[in-house]
Amino acid sequence: MTKRQAARQLIIIGGGASGIILLTKICGVDLDLEITLIDPSEALGLGRAYSTPQPHHLLNVLAEKMSVDKNDKLDFFRFVQPRENYVPRFLFGEYLREKLAKIPAARYRHIREKASVLERKSGHWTVKTERGTCFSADFVVIATGYEKLAPAHVLKSANNSVLANVIQPYDFERLANIDPSDTVLIVGTGLTSVDVFLELKSRGARDIHFLSRRGLVPLPHATSAAPSLTSHFRLPLLAGYSPLQILQVFRLILRQDPSLLSAITLDLRHQASRIWSCWSRDERRKFIRHLKPYWEITRHRIPRTVDEQLAKSRERGESKFHSGRILSTNKENDGLVVKFQPRRSPQVQEISCRWIVMAVDAPIDQKLELSGARNSLQLSPLGLGYENHGAPGLWLLGPPAKGGMWETTAIPEICSQADDILENLKRLVLQEGAIDLNPFCVHAEEGGESYQTHLSVATRYARSFAGISLKLFVHAVFPFWFENDASEYVRNAGPKVSRRRLKHFSVSKIRK
Ligand SMILES: Cc1cc2nc3c(=O)[nH]c(=O)nc-3n(C[C@H](O)[C@H](O)[C@H](O)COP(=O)(O)OP(=O)(O)OC[C@H]3O[C@@H](n4cnc5c(N)ncnc54)[C@H](O)[C@@H]3O)c2cc1C
Repeated sequence: MTKRQAARQLIIIGGGASGIILLTKICGVDLDLEITLIDPSEALGLGRAYSTPQPHHLLNVLAEKMSVDKNDKLDFFRFVQPRENYVPRFLFGEYLREKLAKIPAARYRHIREKASVLERKSGHWTVKTERGTCFSADFVVIATGYEKLAPAHVLKSANNSVLANVIQPYDFERLANIDPSDTVLIVGTGLTSVDVFLELKSRGARDIHFLSRRGLVPLPHATSAAPSLTSHFRLPLLAGYSPLQILQVFRLILRQDPSLLSAITLDLRHQASRIWSCWSRDERRKFIRHLKPYWEITRHRIPRTVDEQLAKSRERGESKFHSGRILSTNKENDGLVVKFQPRRSPQVQEISCRWIVMAVDAPIDQKLELSGARNSLQLSPLGLGYENHGAPGLWLLGPPAKGGMWETTAIPEICSQADDILENLKRLVLQEGAIDLNPFCVHAEEGGESYQTHLSVATRYARSFAGISLKLFVHAVFPFWFENDASEYVRNAGPKVSRRRLKHFSVSKIRK
């Protein structure tokens, strides 16, 4: 029987906030791991969220909740010594960069390349970069964050002359060239649109239009006077409820006390991943289509000071909000004319503007080509990164994990995922020993099982498949018998197998 030494190489793909939070946590413990961080950027730890230099781009989470050290909850708070509740976002970038600078250079290597292929072969991972360099590892973490926002994503009919007047939300150089008297249309009304509004306002803009499908703007954070849930009133465990049933629970509570909205959203946030993992693909799709915009504005809120600025600008007539679907965007004279179908009116309307700023979330459309682990790691069909069904020694961190967990993008959630990854790594690395390369065992090991366990589970499935085949055959001849058995079995079997792999992986043992 062939034996090899226990795995010890880790590759982290992506060095934004998520990748660096994980790196600092791993380097904070005594773990015998060779770490390779692959990211083309020079400035690690910043990514899209924390590379903004603007003081008016604020964190939307209180400083006392942004510590990345789970044993020192006030770590970030002390770093910034805040005078306001919500501090500029770049300070969090500085905080992460300071933590990174404290890691000895020999502890990890930074490869400034873009990963393009992730391959699983003979119990090992291989990451290939766009330049063709290959790195082999026992463990891989995908922390590749968000894709860039693409203007063409929404303005499908726009030609090149239109696109010349379309600006990306964080292209500060081009935003600075906008004359304060120019009319600007911001497409999107989420958090990114608020960033753009603040940027334009800081430069004196006086005519800003916002347009999105529903026209929903993030709510302000609740005041400290808002009621919180008490120990005798908490949400029931909602995992297993459908999106509609959860909405009904929400409505029932809010009908009795509307001021509880913020508190029950917070409670629900802690259950979100469990609820999401119980939903079928169809339920997830329905949630994204009908409920996501409402969840987003309630869950991802803005500081009250920012909300007041928006309200004042609205009152003065300097900001106008529209809801509807863009029909066409054309160049006319020096400007643009955007025609849209309003949400609750048959009458097509138009906005004349000089510039369009795109502030629309693009799907988390990952570009890593996957090979050799197709059953356990798949691209999310909903454009939410990846779904990890127990790929051995592989973890998703931050936005790419959205497909399997939903609530994965805010720093508190990223920190808790990074803590879980660290615990898994500790267990796997500290369990000194060898992995069996016996061909009878490799597949079972990859699912975190022994040969015997795998044999008994697979045999059980074989027996039940045989049973359902028999029923299906009887049903084919006598269609009034076993009418729903086969379809129900097929619907339930897939998720069951995935969950089993996941469960077994998390308690996986490397056999000595
Ligand atoms: C505008 C904005 C404001 C936010 N504000 C807050 C806030 O106030 N509070 C809060 O808690 N959360 C906030 N968030 C959410 C949260 O902080 C982000 O989700 C988090 O920064 C995600 O970091 P990341 O490293 O996962 O992704 P990113 O920041 O997108 O970084 C991904 C990194 O991966 C690299 N990469 C991508 N593809 C590859 C590849 N193929 N190979 C190698 N490297 C690759 C990129 O170069 C980049 O460095 C905000 C998010 C945004 C966008």
